Amino acid sequence: MRFTIIGSGTLVPDAERGSAAFLLEEAGARVLVDGGSGTMTRLKRIGVDVRELDGGVYSHRHVDHCGDLVPILFALKVGVELPRTRDYPIWAGDGFQGFLDGLYGVYGAWIRSDRWTTRVTELPLDGAGTAMLPGGVRLDTLPANHSAGALHLRFTSPDGFVTLFSGDTGPSDNLIQLAANVDVFVTECAVPGKDPWDSHLGPDDVAAIVDAAKPRRVIMTHLYPDNDPETAVAKVARTGVRVERGYDGLVVEG
Ligand SMILES: [Zn+2]
Ligand SMILES: [Zn+2]
Repeated sequence: MRFTIIGSGTLVPDAERGSAAFLLEEAGARVLVDGGSGTMTRLKRIGVDVRELDGGVYSHRHVDHCGDLVPILFALKVGVELPRTRDYPIWAGDGFQGFLDGLYGVYGAWIRSDRWTTRVTELPLDGAGTAMLPGGVRLDTLPANHSAGALHLRFTSPDGFVTLFSGDTGPSDNLIQLAANVDVFVTECAVPGKDPWDSHLGPDDVAAIVDAAKPRRVIMTHLYPDNDPETAVAKVARTGVRVERGYDGLVVEG
């Protein structure tokens, strides 16, 4: 399995960091994981055309995670020199089909085609979910502590390499459960301290999860500007686990 951070940032405009997006590759299959504003352009910079993707997985429906969905569907629809003829499957939490129906209500035929469909597989928001993705990757999900139908996403390659994406979340026992012994834990660390709304993690929260679950490697993303990255990384590094701040273009292979 190979994944690339396409966007390591947040909803806050940043010249170096796009909104959340990741590319997962296995056995020639390429699946987009989240995809905020600017995802199409940043994918193209690394030679990946959204019209050739094998599908998309969404952690939740906040705009910094799925803002490029409409531009992607428009590109698939119109295609120009690459008209799409196969489905564009989507995996996301319960309610995503209704969200997509709302977008169809706004954009109609501009983002729909009679040559392909978006086959949405909805995963439960009240318990464990699982699905098989292109390339033989297994997706396991549990609900996250966040709004907008949020899930934690754990990907297991056919040869057993495991990558976990926290998605946006506050402190979450489900996240600790999924993080046990994973190879790579890509986690949000939005806030510098304790989030008063309990819907994002701070470095002390991440350190507690890492202490409990012992992932082999931690990559921190989705830091708001007031969260000093060196301080945040240092706090998590005290667990003894390898930790770094993610950046757009970071590639992990395993
Ligand atoms: Zn969110
Ligand atoms: Zn977010």
